[in-house]
Amino acid sequence: MADLSKPQNPSTISHWIASNTGPSSLHNYGKDESIPESADIVIVGAGISGAMLAYHLTHPEDDKHALPEGTHIVILEANEVSSSATGRNGGHFAPSTFVHMPRLVRPVGKGGAGLSRSQAVNILQHEWDNYQRNIAVIKKHGLEHKVDLHTGKAMAVYTTEKALASTMKIREDWLAALKEMGVEDWSDGKFYTDKEEAIKLSRVQGAIGCSTRSAGTVHPHKLTTELLKLSLGSTKYKVTLRTSAPVTKLSQSGSTHTVETSRGSITAPKVVLCTNAHTPHLFPAGHPFSKIMYPVRIQMGLFTPPPAFSGIKSLSASYGFPDGYCATSAGGIVVGVGAADYLEAKVGKPQDYICQTDISQVTPEATKFMTGYMEKTFVDWKEKAHGEGLTRSWTGVMSYTTDLLPLIGPLPGVDGLYVSVGYNGHGMSTTHTTNRALARLIASEEWDQDFPTAYVVSEERLNRQHAQKFDDYVKIVAGNKLAGPPSEPQLDS
Ligand SMILES: Cc1cc2nc3c(=O)[nH]c(=O)nc-3n(C[C@H](O)[C@H](O)[C@H](O)COP(=O)(O)OP(=O)(O)OC[C@H]3O[C@@H](n4cnc5c(N)ncnc54)[C@H](O)[C@@H]3O)c2cc1C
Repeated sequence: MADLSKPQNPSTISHWIASNTGPSSLHNYGKDESIPESADIVIVGAGISGAMLAYHLTHPEDDKHALPEGTHIVILEANEVSSSATGRNGGHFAPSTFVHMPRLVRPVGKGGAGLSRSQAVNILQHEWDNYQRNIAVIKKHGLEHKVDLHTGKAMAVYTTEKALASTMKIREDWLAALKEMGVEDWSDGKFYTDKEEAIKLSRVQGAIGCSTRSAGTVHPHKLTTELLKLSLGSTKYKVTLRTSAPVTKLSQSGSTHTVETSRGSITAPKVVLCTNAHTPHLFPAGHPFSKIMYPVRIQMGLFTPPPAFSGIKSLSASYGFPDGYCATSAGGIVVGVGAADYLEAKVGKPQDYICQTDISQVTPEATKFMTGYMEKTFVDWKEKAHGEGLTRSWTGVMSYTTDLLPLIGPLPGVDGLYVSVGYNGHGMSTTHTTNRALARLIASEEWDQDFPTAYVVSEERLNRQHAQKFDDYVKIVAGNKLAGPPSEPQLDS
């Protein structure tokens, strides 16, 4: 994993970072100011998770979940705000539905999360809740335009009979599970199996079927920035943000934690790590985090569409293809290809993706693969003008866990230390509800009744027999691609 306490090479620049560097961004914020000596709560990491936690701590929904007035919250960020996974992702706000079921119920160790059917449905309900709450917060603060919120549909496209049949079977099973639980399908899910209709709807070459569900897209860097600004603007609580403040060491004496940074130390009774893929570095070698968590580097691209895919002819949904996914943003179309997809297409080596954290580089073969991606995917894409097509490439690191679930809550055996990490390439669909629940726990010392216990970081999860070596992680990543239906963003959207 990238040890952010050590100097890093300059990172590749994503579309989201590049399009939010102006005066309304938080670039360079608090970089030259000293680190406070103490605080009530220290949050490490200013990606979507840290920003969402700060937002919920400073905007409690009721008195029971409110911290005492004047509570001082300090956010320490190693680089810039949203400079890691959040600022490099696919821009999807896409709660999963049935297609995730097989992974959630498959046993741990066989590429699954080991949940019961009802637990799996509950997790997927939480993703929907996450989406609804995101939209509600964005609307409450009038941020729709600032964060480029788009609400509409996500579409999965199927190009082989096998994929279509296996996905329909999974959907039947999902509908049966919903019936057993007396729950209606909340996602406005629709399935199209007529070939002509599928091509017309999806505009994808070779489509033989497609499915749609309610989902959105957002500018993740701007959303993180706006949530942090709301927190910094709190009149009831004191919030301090320091960027360029990598945390190098954590220690504890009694009920006091000392957080050392390259710019000085701070003490606090409560520390929350929102450090995603970089978390294991903050623990001694051999800590369970270094086994349950592993990084996967993904290469993304920004496409400037030709006129036939612009304006009123833009793609009307975000997509999951058999070998990648895309979302239309105000500044172009962001395309991602998962590690398993690159490897299946024989693009690069496993070491280019799995347990790879160098985001200062792209993989040249992946750039080549990406260059013709839209032309080969969409009917009549046809790039003609200089400047159309792939205009930018970047890499980002996802934080996978061996049981595919995030790790949330108090770290067992360490009073006052919490984590909100391990978002498995899907954090835009989970970080709202996880950090809302964590903020409420910190304020009231009680978990919300309906928070999925499967997300809670427990001794049992940490001490399970995990993958041990590189090849094990390669197998898990490939297995997830092969064992799931291949026509949906796998763990990546
Ligand atoms: C290429 C890519 C595509 C993706 N596509 C999607 C998608 O389309 N939809 C979706 O839902 N999810 C997607 N994801 C996943 C999603 O972006 C993540 O799950 C989410 O951003 C995680 O947020 P986070 O705040 O936990 O982590 P991060 O954004 O990684 O934030 C962690 C922060 O902690 C800081 N930090 C770490 N260590 C230290 C330290 N020692 N001291 C101080 N600060 C530290 C880092 O600098 C960083 O800013 C994608 C991820 C990637 C990489």
